[in-house]
Parts: sequence; C-alpha cells; structure tokens
Amino acid sequence: MAVDYEKHLEKALASLHEEGRYRVFTDLARRAGDFPRAMNHSTEPPREVTVWCSNDYLGMGQNERVMTAMKDAIDTMGTGAGGTRNISGNHHTIVTLEKELCDLHNKQAALVFTSGYISNEATLSTLAKLLPDCIIFSDELNHASMIEGVRQSGCSKRIWRHNDIAHLESLLREADPNRAKLIAFESVYSMDGDVAPIAEICALAEKYNALTYLDEVHAVGMYGQRGGGIADRENLMHRVDIIEGTLAKAFGVMGGYITGNSSLIDAIRSFAPGFIFTTSLPPAIAAGAIESVRILKQANDVRARHQDRAARLKEMLTQEDLPVLLSETHIVPIMVGDPVLCKAASDRLLNEHNIYIQPINYPTVPRGTERLRITPTPLHDDVMLEELVSAVKEVWDYLGISRDVPMPMSLSAAQ
Ligand SMILES: *Cc1c(COP(=O)(O)O)cnc(C)c1O
Repeated sequence: MAVDYEKHLEKALASLHEEGRYRVFTDLARRAGDFPRAMNHSTEPPREVTVWCSNDYLGMGQNERVMTAMKDAIDTMGTGAGGTRNISGNHHTIVTLEKELCDLHNKQAALVFTSGYISNEATLSTLAKLLPDCIIFSDELNHASMIEGVRQSGCSKRIWRHNDIAHLESLLREADPNRAKLIAFESVYSMDGDVAPIAEICALAEKYNALTYLDEVHAVGMYGQRGGGIADRENLMHRVDIIEGTLAKAFGVMGGYITGNSSLIDAIRSFAPGFIFTTSLPPAIAAGAIESVRILKQANDVRARHQDRAARLKEMLTQEDLPVLLSETHIVPIMVGDPVLCKAASDRLLNEHNIYIQPINYPTVPRGTERLRITPTPLHDDVMLEELVSAVKEVWDYLGISRDVPMPMSLSAAQ
C-alpha cells in the first residue's frame, strides 16, 4: 500500500495537540533601546508587551557599543564570512574573538562555532570518538545538544542522577580504569536554575583520571569577577578541561564556543564535521561578541543588579504564596505541573496583561513539571516587577491553578 505521508505527519502533530504541548511561536519585534518591551505581532493590531522570558539576560542585544561594533564591522568588512574556516572564511575578527575567549576563561585555546548547540554536539561526539574506548558520564538533566553529542559519539554512556556526586562516583568506580572517561555537565541548569557542585566533580575527575566538559551557557557573562561563569566565580576554571559557552544569551549576539588546552582544541578543529563543513560566523557577529565580552569583563554592577532583580522577584512571588522555585540563580520558574494549564496561563498573561512568558512543557522539562520560566534582567524595574506579580496572581486565581505543586527533582534532592 502506498505511504500516506500527510496522514503520518498529521497524526504526529495531533498527538502534540492532544497533550496540550503543541508549540505556538509568538511573533515579536524587539525594539532597540526599549528592552524589555517588544511589539507582539501575533495579535491584530500588534500590541506592546513586556518580555519576561528572554535569554538576552542582560539586555546586551541592544547595548549601544555592541550595536556600533556590529555596524562598523559591516561597513568595513561586509556581511558574510565568505567561507568555512579552512577555505577563505578565517577572518581576522573571529581569530580575535577566540583570543578574547581564551583570556576570559584563562585557557590556551578557544574555538568558535555557529551556535552553542553545535559546539556541544560537535565537541562531545568528536572528542569521545578520538579517545580509546571512551565512556561518557552525563548528568541526567543535560541539555538536548549534549545528549545529541553523546548519542552521535556512539560511545558507551552512563547517566548519573542530577548533581548526585555519590552516584557519579559509584559509576566511575565501576568503570574499567584503562578506558577513557569524559564527564559532561552544566554549571547553571537552564530550567531549574540550580548549580552543579563543580569542585566536587573536578575532584572525582582527578581521582578517576577523567576529562571534564562543562556547559556554562547560562552563566557566562553573568557570574564570576569577569563574567567567566560559575567556574570563574569559584576559581575553578583551571580544573575544568573544556569550558563551553554561548555568545547568544548574556552576550546578546549569536554563536557558541569551547575553550581548553591547545591539543584538545586543535583536535576538535581538525576532526569535528560540525565545525569544519560550515561557513564561519560573519565578521559583524564576531565583532559584536568581542565588544560584549569586553564590556561584561568589567560589569560587576550589571551582574549585581541582575541578581538583585531575580532575588526581589522570588521574594515578591513567595510573599503572594505563588509556587516559585527558589533557585540560587537568575532563573525564576513558577511551577504549574500541567501542560494545558501552563499554556492557558501564558495565553492569559499575554492577552489580558501584555506580559509575555512562553510556557515550558515536555520534552524541555519532565512531564508534571511544566512551568513558566521567568528571567528578570537588570532592565526590569520595580514597576514592571509589581505589574508581573499582580498579573500572575490574577491568572492563578482566574484559572484556579494550584499553589501547591510538586517541585522538580533538582530542589527535592537538595532539600
Ligand atoms: C541554549 C543552550 C545551549 C545552546 O546554545 P545556543 O547558542 O542557543 O545554540 C546549550 N546548552 C544549554 C544548557 C542551553 O540552554
């Protein structure tokens, strides 16, 4: 019988609708100089909204100096890179950016990719393949890009319970001492906003002769004396073999990178298809990233204000008895625990209150831990915080959402 292609695809989509987790994108136009406001073009006529779920954590995407650096780069060097790194696309700006990133993390070498996703996938899959009979030890809450890298490596893997050092050690102890080992984890976990015990993980890596791979995507720019991330804050960068970051979140531009010692970076540069066979980032993006990294190296005031906003919001939500996850970072999730209600809450915030917070459902988070993930920035002022909290209260009451939902595992493990 002939395959009915349409029918198969429609059936797959219907299951998403049934579960209430079909993704609807919001059509936004950001306005430079007016962060965190944007125009929502999903409604007719378009309406101004306050964005509360951006990963442009510090508003650097609209920083005047970053914008000027990007415009100047286009005026002097044009738009595209013109090739892969190997064939005419190794422009001076990207080379300078890599030097800047080495300095940020105090490492010998750095390598820039077209996104953080690609940097994780390409590095993990390539590195593990190059090592003898490698076992990858992966935290169970690692980002999809790392999971994909682990999968593509084809190596054996051991999943350790989230942030559970004793479990990681028991898995390391069981493994053959002669096999290569790679421990992959994040510093700040993106959905719960909790932080890995980096020092303890490094100590285990040293004890069992494993390499460490740390995703600092949700920390670079925002933590540490110079914005090098949590490992910078805790003086641990020298103990982590590979630090991975993005230029697209706190740095406000686009692209990903890894830093580490020269031989390791050279190996990825030489063997990773996801690095080799794609056009390099354009000069303007690299120029914007350089400026942003430089600005945030000297921005402890911005980092302090960022933390203050998050702490203040957690306090205000707690006072209203709303089920906020009391993370120790800038990520402020309010738990809903149901995909349909989560979407309904997000819709009502947008339509009735002009507040934009995208619902977070499975598979981004485990089922039953659906949530609104709020990311206050230094540019969200007190009035905006008050508007947000009273709107959330109204929505919770209107929809009858429980204020007593189970917290996700990161917190129950810690408590
Ligand atoms: C967003 C994210 C990435 C991917 O970074 P991009 O630059 O957006 O591709 C990698 N790791 C984690 C933990 C992330 O949240």
